[in-house]
Amino acid sequence: MTNEELLFGRQLLSFQLPLPLPKNYLSWPAMVIQNKTVICKRCNSFWNKTVVKMPDGNFYCPNCISLGRVTSDELLYHLPEGNYFEKNRDYLHLLNPLTSAQLEISEKITDIIVRQSAILLWAVTGAGKTEMMFLSLNYAFKLGMRVCWAAPRVDVILELAPRLKKAFPDLPFSVLYGQMEEPYSYRQFVLCTTHQLLRFFHAFDVLIIDEVDSFPYVNNLGLNFAAKQAVKPHSSQIYLSATPPDDLLQELPILYLAKRFHGHPLPVPQVVYVGNWRKALQKKRLVHQIKRELKRGLSHHERYLIFVSEIKLLNILGAAFQKAFPLIKWTSVHAQDPQRKQKIMDFRQKNYDVLFTTTILERGVTIKKINVIVIGAESPIFNWATLVQIAGRAGRDSKYFADRVIFYYSFYTSAIKKAVNQIKQLNQKAGFNESM
Ligand SMILES: [Zn+2]
Repeated sequence: MTNEELLFGRQLLSFQLPLPLPKNYLSWPAMVIQNKTVICKRCNSFWNKTVVKMPDGNFYCPNCISLGRVTSDELLYHLPEGNYFEKNRDYLHLLNPLTSAQLEISEKITDIIVRQSAILLWAVTGAGKTEMMFLSLNYAFKLGMRVCWAAPRVDVILELAPRLKKAFPDLPFSVLYGQMEEPYSYRQFVLCTTHQLLRFFHAFDVLIIDEVDSFPYVNNLGLNFAAKQAVKPHSSQIYLSATPPDDLLQELPILYLAKRFHGHPLPVPQVVYVGNWRKALQKKRLVHQIKRELKRGLSHHERYLIFVSEIKLLNILGAAFQKAFPLIKWTSVHAQDPQRKQKIMDFRQKNYDVLFTTTILERGVTIKKINVIVIGAESPIFNWATLVQIAGRAGRDSKYFADRVIFYYSFYTSAIKKAVNQIKQLNQKAGFNESM
């Protein structure tokens, strides 16, 4: 890899540069200093000078500091992207058959790439949106386009990487995220977290943003700016979501896929009032409605993914569950859990029958034949989009598409109502009637 290649389509600070510095590089001040404010050119955040002044008199940007500190005495260094990739090569190796609805969407996405415009693909959970993108990606690769697939959450990236590797085994691509071990390489295809986009400048011909409505991308002005700056002036952007926010729905043309890949409807959540479930938990008891459901399911060898709003509930709930079902194998997982990856893998391999989790597993995780429960669905953590995503973990298998989804609540919220209505509407849109 040459030093030029390491700078194509990038914007790096002096201490991040490949040395010796390639000739003909471009550079510009990393911050613009105005009367009272300074502006970061990497993330476009505005700061009052007094707030971000350093002892040496320079200024810095706190907003994007996790990617290396931008200061007002720094420059951003760049070499224009020249698309030095092999053309006309067919990289697509494996493609599961697409349904006619998926094929139709796939053709439309390719058309967006040709026309270099933007679109929002609203595909229900389990629609198979990743596979749907493969033909369009292959088309872009053949033309020598540089393509980026970004997602706000690293879990989504880690789940996507092996699937893309399988589909495009001979295409070298880089996977970029905060804790990555591999050094950066110049590749035609980049799979990364949305934070990593801050290091790119006019690099991509095609940018896909997956789970565009999820934290931390949604409502984050810096990351939204990074996405705009990472693409070339003439490029296409494809936004993917199962639960798009209202502002995106108004901003962009929409492609709609309401049917899951296996052709069955989304499981509609049952909503069950359970009174003060926290009080029962303090006495190490599960409320009888939840206990009855678990007893029914576990005795039929069904498995459960159980969501709660806070980490501290995991232990209390685990203790109550252990008391009620001493023979059942269970575990719990949360974002800071060092064994997180292993536990999820063990659950997938059926080493546990019950997994208690926080919302970290709300998206991007596919486990077949699983009932999904939310305990305390009234929590503000569970907004409508989160509840729709959680419900979408169920019924992913073409043989076991009728898994149960139950929201247990102590008071009914507008989020619960909107989530259930949304799922019913999506089913209707897909041509299923209310009774299903
Ligand atoms: Zn910044």
